[in-house]
Amino acid sequence: MRVAIVPGSFDPITSGHLDIIQRASIIFKKVVVGVVKDIPKDTLFSEQERRIMVNEVIADLDNVSVEIFDTLLVDFAKKNDANAIVRGLRAVSDFEHECQMAQINRELSDKIETIFMMASPKFAYLSSSVVKEIAEYGGSVKSMVPSAVEESLAKKFRR
Ligand code: ADP
Repeated sequence: MRVAIVPGSFDPITSGHLDIIQRASIIFKKVVVGVVKDIPKDTLFSEQERRIMVNEVIADLDNVSVEIFDTLLVDFAKKNDANAIVRGLRAVSDFEHECQMAQINRELSDKIETIFMMASPKFAYLSSSVVKEIAEYGGSVKSMVPSAVEESLAKKFRR
């Protein structure tokens, strides 16, 4: 069975992430969204909040599930019997880091293929950090995140 992992910090999940998850769900039999538990940068949302938001926005995708992980990505992939890692590429600036990660993961396991999908043009400018900055200063993020995430951001920044 073809299973893919879509990993990320999802702090919070944006419409750009969701677009990649939806497209992966068409190609793969099963998609597991992996929410990274501990990341070097401070997150706005706790790991559980990030998982819950992902869970809400994937609700109508039958073959997609979400899990928090705090192991090597290749080990998380093996645990889920996945043979692919799907990553989104927005611009050349993503490429260097993504290329290095894909090569390291190949070194760790040559059974798991990293597959890149180009961001849809309408979401190519989007990142979680841009969304957080706009929401913090009271701007509208309606076109950038699913409505459940818009509400969570509004709650976080309510003063
Ligand atoms: P990380 O902290 O690991 O970069 P992110 O949650 O920020 O995690 O991103 C996870 C993946 O989603 C990465 O492959 C990233 O390039 C991709 N991604 C982020 N934003 C977008 C977007 N707007 N469109 C397509 N892919 C995106």
